[in-house]
Amino acid sequence: MSPCTFNEAKRLVRELVKAKGFPDDESALTQKLLWAFVELGEAADAYKKGESWNIISEELVDAIFYILDFIGLVEKTQGIEIDVDKIFLEKWKKNMERPKQYGQRRDIKRQNPSENSIEL
Ligand SMILES: [Mg+2]
Repeated sequence: MSPCTFNEAKRLVRELVKAKGFPDDESALTQKLLWAFVELGEAADAYKKGESWNIISEELVDAIFYILDFIGLVEKTQGIEIDVDKIFLEKWKKNMERPKQYGQRRDIKRQNPSENSIEL
């Protein structure tokens, strides 16, 4: 199997959308993002249920499908081009230049369940 860039994956997802007759106009934009959240939920549920890493990963890839579908639909409806590979690499570089544990102000530690228990 050959390597696949984000841009190629975006093209493949858009091809799938057309081939399978999924919603493909501006009114579907919100729906695409919502389905990405649903797929993340499916991944969390699969993890909780002890499903295989392959199943969990497949659910995460479903979320990526919807995200790329959203971006491709934005390109189509807005008449613009979005270079996902470029954006990814620029964002990666930006994050690498940030301090350690950037954006994390609270020190979230695991709590012993017996401590600070809340009576219900
Ligand atoms: Mg799924």
